[in-house]
Amino acid sequence: MKVLVTGGAGYIGSVVVEQLIKHGHEAVVYDNLSKGHAAAVAPEAAFIRADLMNRDALVRALDQRKIEAVIHMAASSLVGESVQNPHLYFNNNVGAGLALLDAMLTVGVKKIVFSSTAAVYGSPETMPITEDAPQNPTNPYGESKLAFERMLRWYDAAYQLRYASLRYFNAAGASERFGEDHHPETHLIPNVLRVAATGSGHVDIFGENYNTPDGTCVRDYIHVIDLADAHALALNVLEKRSEIFNLGYGSGYSVAEVVEMARQVTKRWISTEAAPRRAGDPPVLIASPDKIMRDLGWNPRHSELDQIIESAWRWSLAHPNGYGE
Ligand code: UDP
Repeated sequence: MKVLVTGGAGYIGSVVVEQLIKHGHEAVVYDNLSKGHAAAVAPEAAFIRADLMNRDALVRALDQRKIEAVIHMAASSLVGESVQNPHLYFNNNVGAGLALLDAMLTVGVKKIVFSSTAAVYGSPETMPITEDAPQNPTNPYGESKLAFERMLRWYDAAYQLRYASLRYFNAAGASERFGEDHHPETHLIPNVLRVAATGSGHVDIFGENYNTPDGTCVRDYIHVIDLADAHALALNVLEKRSEIFNLGYGSGYSVAEVVEMARQVTKRWISTEAAPRRAGDPPVLIASPDKIMRDLGWNPRHSELDQIIESAWRWSLAHPNGYGE
């Protein structure tokens, strides 16, 4: 299939493009490089540097490249930032998303895989989380992603736009070529590995008095290659119907456990300091992956936390300055 990947120059997008090509698809990356990196676009993919709000460029890309499906990953995606600046999140995740859907309908492209998030659930009582759990986001990031999911449902009913919404838990790790390079970096694993690599500074532990076994937040870390594989599988479902899937492994690790595992993998000391809770963080998020395994035959192959951290460590040692732009 010919697939337009919005946000394909980002961390997850770069690996999704790589896996799409492995599965025999053609990828066209559409990215404004506000967060992404030109060097993160696989040379086997085409690259259009443009904004989703640029309707002419978007319609032209969909039309001239004969796009059959879109994987929509371009988004703002930081919980803390979203609490500070909700406007940015509704603008980029809902406004630009709407522009994309309308351009797709103009050209007659009616298949979309959407990067959604566990943040749509808020702080559920029951773990692991199944797709039918109540959706009560605790931050504007989750709210904006949920709003777009709901738009998809109505576009499906009215215009037969078929969608697969993938609710990511915590993407982590790296492929051989592509890894995580955010400015500023806010994610746990790259922050931990930076302290290991530089031997200076410390990792802030955002909250040590949550109602969890060791008091720190628990997350379901999923290797970015397993996550990317699910996108190629999700394209197949769009022929027939729309679906929502969780993407995680069903096992959780606390912040303290991640730091300890990173010490073992890197064989370096990693200093930590207690810090206040980060606004909008739920205490525990663990996926039930049963639906995607059953319906799409998703078969994760990189689910061990040490492998995940190891892959990120290898990438960060090979790219001490990230993509160096
Ligand atoms: N976290 C932390 N210190 C950091 C970065 C993250 O304690 O420097 C915690 C954060 O509060 C959350 C977990 O690690 O409980 C995962 O955060 P991350 O930003 O990686 O992903 P999120 O869960 O926000 O998508």
